Amino acid sequence: MRTPIKYLIIHCTATAAGREVSGSDIRRWHLLPKPEGRGWKQVGYTDLFHLNGGIERLVENNEDAYVDGWEITNGAAGANSYSRHIVYVGGLTADGEKPQDTRTIEQRKALKKYILDFVRTFPDVQCAGHNQFSNKACPCFDVPKWLKEIGINQKNIKR
Ligand SMILES: [Zn+2]
Repeated sequence: MRTPIKYLIIHCTATAAGREVSGSDIRRWHLLPKPEGRGWKQVGYTDLFHLNGGIERLVENNEDAYVDGWEITNGAAGANSYSRHIVYVGGLTADGEKPQDTRTIEQRKALKKYILDFVRTFPDVQCAGHNQFSNKACPCFDVPKWLKEIGINQKNIKR
């Protein structure tokens, strides 16, 4: 199975502001059988953006214009076979109660660079937030508005 990439979908880890999350945390949350984890076959995201702007690769990817079966991540049911999912650490207020845009300056910088590069490499891709695919707060900021602010063309922004 091999499908051209259609979407780059942004997520948050839905964790409290300032709290670091590791790749192995995410692997545990997603892969452990229920009830400890979600019991998925693969984690939800390809790349994890840490609080300091560092990017951790969670799932191998050959960076071509297709989503191969072994590259699929489970970020948004129904769209996974043609999407790349990325996630920043955070998304909730410090008390962990409410959705909030908690992206650090370093995360914003790293996300911006990643997305600009991605769109340059895959000119037909559309970038989106998880909440454009399902009724969720994730990634807890207005993705189309921010994409416009960082200079992404309208045609690369999912409406
Ligand atoms: Zn999400």
